[in-house]
Amino acid sequence: MTSQAIPYKIYLSESEMPTAWYNLRADMVNKPAPLLNPGTLQPMTAQELSGVFCDELIRQELDNDTALFPIPEQILSFYKMYRPSPLVRAYCLEEKLGTPAKIYYKFEGNNTSGSHKLNSAIAQAYYAKEQGLKGVTTETGAGQWGTALSMACSYYGLDCKVYMVKVSYEQKPFRREVMRTYGASVTPSPSMETQVGRKILAEHPGTTGSLGCTISEAVEAATSTPGYRYVLGSVLNQVLLHQSVIGLETKAALDKYGVKADIIIGCAGGGSNLGGLIAPFMGQKLRGEADYRIIAVEPASCPSFTRGKFAYDFCDTGMVCPLAKMYTLGSGFIPAPNHAGGLRYHGMSSTLSQLYHDGLMEAVSVKQTDVFQAAEYFARVEGILPAPESAHAIKVAIDEAVKCRETGEEKTIVFGLTGTGYFDMVAYEKFHDGLMSDYIPTDEELQVGFDKLPKV
Ligand SMILES: *Cc1c(COP(=O)(O)O)cnc(C)c1O
Repeated sequence: MTSQAIPYKIYLSESEMPTAWYNLRADMVNKPAPLLNPGTLQPMTAQELSGVFCDELIRQELDNDTALFPIPEQILSFYKMYRPSPLVRAYCLEEKLGTPAKIYYKFEGNNTSGSHKLNSAIAQAYYAKEQGLKGVTTETGAGQWGTALSMACSYYGLDCKVYMVKVSYEQKPFRREVMRTYGASVTPSPSMETQVGRKILAEHPGTTGSLGCTISEAVEAATSTPGYRYVLGSVLNQVLLHQSVIGLETKAALDKYGVKADIIIGCAGGGSNLGGLIAPFMGQKLRGEADYRIIAVEPASCPSFTRGKFAYDFCDTGMVCPLAKMYTLGSGFIPAPNHAGGLRYHGMSSTLSQLYHDGLMEAVSVKQTDVFQAAEYFARVEGILPAPESAHAIKVAIDEAVKCRETGEEKTIVFGLTGTGYFDMVAYEKFHDGLMSDYIPTDEELQVGFDKLPKV
């Protein structure tokens, strides 16, 4: 089929939408390392996890073998309200760049929460409701996860308590109000409400917070309140499982037009959108059916893959969570307050960490001002105003397309455009006014985090 036949936007019909999530771990030879109990250093059992997480989500978390998980009917109906998301052929961007590369992006910003996070939020709220719980607690960084979860909880009539990283709480008052509109309560973190929050504040007075601190607070709130569980918007296997809907739709849309991707690019915070986008493609790669270059893009200010250590570490600053084996900067690492809040996590999904360790994917880090330059360029050409997180993937997609211009190669590039940036205008303002910095931690600064890794 010629490229002319491919529409600007490829939508799937309802009957072409995926009806099961795909569990990438089923095809991995080297499975991701298990979560460990920080006390005994033994793998966490379902029983031990049940005080923190919902039962069905624990089952999904621990299952490394089942390839397909049927999506419950109620979740499918909710998905139909905002999915399928379009796979857009970036004709205008290709022309502007003068590249022979063919560029596609999967746009996840077409829902009120503005990002891919709703794909997992609705699933997690569904299982909490099924279990008869009263509510859930969570952390949010930039606010996208909290927003998505608030929407999902209001749909199921669940109580939603969100701890929000303080710097974002202050920078993004409108994001906070969206969550409250959907009925959530929002607390800036670290707060005085929890033991761990008080401890962190005593040790780091005036801290602007980090996802790691906020997770500790949300977990404490869940485990100390009957009828509540904690839910997490990224990093965990269960979240990657739910986000596989992104990749399954992308692959179905490409297959529909006989297009084979060469390079797949996504930004990586905790790894959920990237893990979801690449899932079916990586599955083919693992089974020896096809090959792809897969690139994770992270901020130079929080470089878990490119400068982190592959080691067991705490998922949170307060060290109340299980240990996960992952590329990490150390749970005590607090990144410079850059503007891609969703990419400020110290660690990375265990699944993606294992794949990266096994040489099945690449990673690059990019500087903040270069990211915003790419974001602005993209907005002016393709119209969509991207989230700063998403713009990390845009930056590298453009770099790869420019390489194709130089070599004349007609590669097919697919990247994940995870969300919109309407709540990030303070960051755009800083960029426009020339006030944005490119803080990159020194080796000495990173060593401080590595020195505190648990000895496992
Ligand atoms: C949260 C978020 C990310 C990063 O999280 P992952 O779990 O790595 O996907 C990226 N983009 C947007 C818009 C986000 O909200």
